[in-house]
Amino acid sequence: MDMEIRTNVSLRAMNTFGMEVKAACLAEYSSVEELRSLFPEGNLRSDLPRPWHHIGGGSNLLFTKDFEGTVLHSSICFAEEAEPAEDGKVKVRVGSGVIWDDFVAWTCRRGLWGAENLSLIPGETGAAAVQNIGAYGVEAADIISSVGCFEPATGKELTLDVSECGYGYRRSRFKEEWKGRYIVTSVTFMLSGNYSPRLDYGNVRSAVESVTKGADLTPGVIRDAIISIRNSKLPDPSEVGSAGSFFKNPFVSGDVFRHVADVARKDGLGDVPHFLSPDGSIKIPAAWLLEKCGWKGAVMGNAGVWGKQPLVLVNATGKATPDEILALEAAMVRSVQERFSILLEPEVEHI
Ligand SMILES: Cc1cc2nc3c(=O)[nH]c(=O)nc-3n(C[C@H](O)[C@H](O)[C@H](O)COP(=O)(O)OP(=O)(O)OC[C@H]3O[C@@H](n4cnc5c(N)ncnc54)[C@H](O)[C@@H]3O)c2cc1C
Repeated sequence: MDMEIRTNVSLRAMNTFGMEVKAACLAEYSSVEELRSLFPEGNLRSDLPRPWHHIGGGSNLLFTKDFEGTVLHSSICFAEEAEPAEDGKVKVRVGSGVIWDDFVAWTCRRGLWGAENLSLIPGETGAAAVQNIGAYGVEAADIISSVGCFEPATGKELTLDVSECGYGYRRSRFKEEWKGRYIVTSVTFMLSGNYSPRLDYGNVRSAVESVTKGADLTPGVIRDAIISIRNSKLPDPSEVGSAGSFFKNPFVSGDVFRHVADVARKDGLGDVPHFLSPDGSIKIPAAWLLEKCGWKGAVMGNAGVWGKQPLVLVNATGKATPDEILALEAAMVRSVQERFSILLEPEVEHI
């Protein structure tokens, strides 16, 4: 089957906010050869509109308007499992277009440990390696062994070891200096056939115990517990449009922290939750700042804030426009800045 290249395409089904925006062109490739054919001589094919932007499931994106260029999307979908090594480790190579949670479910069905705490995170496997997704004490970098990439400028394929990818908290070199340089085409994970649950984060242990009721732990049982925790806290993108946590947690100086603590004392807001980081800065949860500014459950036109988690902006009616989400974002940022002198930055990429 020929590669699918369409013009003037609605992206509504390709972003979890459910924004009704259009791309001048959408190219969905299903092999590295097809991807290479889009970049003859190192540049996007001359008959396709520019610029180009690669997306996955659109679950960490806000399209702020129609996109005038070419949106690229991977439909490279496969999963190959190698023979287990003597120590029980199992390598699995997965195509970038595989839905992340389908992959996690697949590992759990096989009794492989490693990905289960990352159940139900929206998006695709290629983006999981770009974003270094994380939840419940585990991040993608803990289980990634290497990342297969295509370099448009040279037409080369290469495999980058996990140690080269610059992984940190929700960070990678793919998101930073390698953005536009490499397109992720596959990810190789190192999983384990040996019993290795990770339960020491938040309420994971108690949620697991309520599901197992004394039965043996398996990756699938932990997956079920994680899914039930997530469903109780976060909107289901198939029902309410969102892009997950919209803002980054701010890291502030001692002076700014003291200012926040003063405001909290004066206004009777209680103790300010905070975490010291190794570089001496102090992380304050953005969710706390937003909650204290009254944003939980707020509604502005068709846009809103999730009632159980003020970090999550939602397409409240399903009819929100990018401008309505941007107006809500600006109002939230302004209120936190005015009250606490902290400038919140978006986690969600604006396109
Ligand atoms: C309800 C909800 C809950 C969420 N919970 C979590 C959570 O618990 N933990 C967490 O970490 N995240 C969470 N997220 C955020 C989101 O799921 C992740 O960031 C996810 O990895 C995005 O995947 P995607 O395929 O949708 O990528 P997109 O949003 O489409 O793209 C993300 C970035 O990756 C780039 N990209 C995509 N594919 C490729 C590729 N093949 N090669 C190179 N670059 C590429 C894009 O250009 C973009 O910069 C949540 C989102 C929602 C909506």
